Formats: sequence, C-alpha cells, structure tokens
Amino acid sequence: MALPLIVMGATGRMGSTITHLASGREDVKIAALVDRENKAKELPYACSLLDVADSAGMAQVLKDFPDATFIDFTAPEASLATARLAAKSGHAAVIGTTGLTENQKKELAELAKQTKLFYSANMSVGINVLLEILPLLTQMLGDGYDMDLVELHHKHKKDAPSGTALRLAECVAEAKGWHLADVANYHREGITGERKQEEIGLQTVRGGDIVGVHTLYFMGPGERIEVTHQAHSRENFAEGALKAAVWLARQKPGNLYSMQDVLKG
Ligand code: NAD
Repeated sequence: MALPLIVMGATGRMGSTITHLASGREDVKIAALVDRENKAKELPYACSLLDVADSAGMAQVLKDFPDATFIDFTAPEASLATARLAAKSGHAAVIGTTGLTENQKKELAELAKQTKLFYSANMSVGINVLLEILPLLTQMLGDGYDMDLVELHHKHKKDAPSGTALRLAECVAEAKGWHLADVANYHREGITGERKQEEIGLQTVRGGDIVGVHTLYFMGPGERIEVTHQAHSRENFAEGALKAAVWLARQKPGNLYSMQDVLKG
C-alpha cells in the first residue's frame, strides 16, 4: 500500500523535487502539499496547496490520513513545529532542514520518544557512507595531519556553514577525541599566527546554483588527501528523504533516527 506523504515546504526547492519524484513512485502518494499562504501561486502542480496556518485544514488532513508521514524541508522553527504536531497526532515525520540549534536537536530527540521521528542534515547515500569511513581515515593518519573543510553552495542558502559541513567536521573531531565547538575555526584573517594542532578550519563559499560540494583536506608532511563529495542535483537528497520515509514507517518510536540507520537496514 502506498505511504501517504504530507510535504511541508512543498513549493520550496526540496519540497517541489520531493513532490515531483513521489508522483512517479508507487510506494508513496501525496496526501497534502503544505506551505505558507503567500506561496500558493508558486505551486506548479494541479494540486491545491494547504496553508500551514489553516489549523482546521491541517487537522482534517491528519484525520483523513492517519498513516501519513510528514516530509519537512522548511526552516528550523517550522520543522520544530512540524515535529511537535507529529508527536501530538502520532504521525511519523522525516525532517531534513539544516541550521537547527543544539536545543532544537535536543527537542527533536525528546519528541522522538512519542512518535517515529527522523532527522538528517544530509540525505545522500554518499555523505552518509563518508560519515562511516572518515573516523577510520582520521585515526589511521594520526597526529601529523591537519584537517580543514571547504564547502560550496548556491547563493540562496540561508545557513553557513552547511549542516553537512558541520556534521563532517564533527565526525572527524570526534575521531580525534575533540569537541568541534572547542577546535572549529570559522574565520582566518590578518596576522593569525600558526595554526594550532587541535584545530579544524571551516570555510564557506556561496554563489550561483551550486547544489553542494564538501571537501575535507588532510594535510600531512609531504602529502595531502582531499575527500570531496559533489551533489549533482537535489534529486539525490529527495530520493534519500523518500527512502527514509518508507523505512521510518516500519520502525517504532523511541529513537531519533538518521540516514545512517536507514543505510544499515
Ligand atoms: P527553500 O527556501 O527553497 O524552501 C523552503 C520552503 O519552506 C519554502 O517554500 C517556504 O515557504 C517553506 N516554509 C517556510 N516556513 C514554513 C512553515 N512554517 N510551514 C510550511 N512551509 C514553510 O529551501 P530549500 O532549498 O528547499 O531547503 C530547505 C531546507 O532543507 C534548508 O534548511 C536546507 O538547508 C535543507 N536541505 C537539506 C538537505 C538534506 O539532505 N537534509 C538537502 C537540501 C536542503
């Protein structure tokens, strides 16, 4: 039976890609497309758009589709509102919005005790495989290798560094036994002095329509390793979100699931 989806942020770059891909699949179907009221005219589909502020309309969708899963790529506070609504109504929710604060992530983990909840700052298979293998690379290279990260995104992106950049940097920091907050350097300018040994530089480039490029540099004596992930299109993230929604429907509440859980089956 096809899994009904409630797409939050349906007119956005990710929301519209997800809706487009979902319409070509048999394992999912669109229950509702939701966005802010002023976005209604932007919807390119022959489908009505529900205003997120229309609480009676939202309640009707939840009643009509008790097995529906939210897919939310919107903005941090909007995604938290979706997660709270899902926890209250018992619906599942897949959240892909980036730029969440630590407190917002903690709240998601709490809400995950009440309903099936999934959060991943990057839904691509490649990035999530990288998150598995980077600790081994970092540990095997040892102390002689400095690590920096550079990320590139399109000019409309609202948060910096990207959620993926932060997750990748956190992953290699943890492999060294460091806390990212203690070692991250987001800005070098002027007479900076030599770099510290316990430091990870994160640099951000914004422009054009770049979907997303992340490069981690491991710079050692006489050699350098560069690990680059290039997202060629948003379909990669959208496919990941749909895969996560279908997977999440089979899980039980209790944990805040991530893409790494999906890949491990
Ligand atoms: P976008 O600005 O194109 O779309 C966001 C949409 O959300 C807009 O249509 C906006 O009107 C809507 N929105 C905002 N507040 C809302 C609310 N309260 N209720 C309903 N809709 C609301 O942005 P985008 O490029 O689609 O990205 C959205 C988010 O997804 C960003 O945080 C981005 O970084 C993240 N993202 C994550 C991944 C991933 O793999 N996890 C991939 C790409 C983008």
